[in-house]
Amino acid sequence: MTDFSMNSKEFFRALESDQLIGSHCLDCGAVATPQRHICPDCLGSNTEVVTFLGKGKLMAYTVIYVPSSMMAEAGYDARNPYCVGVVALEEGPKISAQILGVDVNHPENIKIGTELAMTTINRGKEDHSKKYLAFTPA
Ligand SMILES: [Zn+2]
Repeated sequence: MTDFSMNSKEFFRALESDQLIGSHCLDCGAVATPQRHICPDCLGSNTEVVTFLGKGKLMAYTVIYVPSSMMAEAGYDARNPYCVGVVALEEGPKISAQILGVDVNHPENIKIGTELAMTTINRGKEDHSKKYLAFTPA
């Protein structure tokens, strides 16, 4: 059980305590992340919030050399690129996040299917710092 709710802000509140949450449909069994009150598969509303193990496999990735403003503030640029990937969680749903601990200078060495574990990274100025989802090779 979890004390998190379907409110979209709760996804980030869960990350603050290093938890990755989603929703589970009690009618058809579908799981999704971030959590959704309406099931994306059967459109029913008989859903509950669940906490995932935070383990998955890399399904797709890209290395970004021209960062968003938030990532530029974090120190990324063409000489210091970062990897973003789509991760298929063990429980089924896919989610995109930054992938840490991979060879961004040799993207050809990053392998689809790599086993990953969730982690979090702090972004933003100290007094407005917030945790974001990321994954590292397990
Ligand atoms: Zn459903």
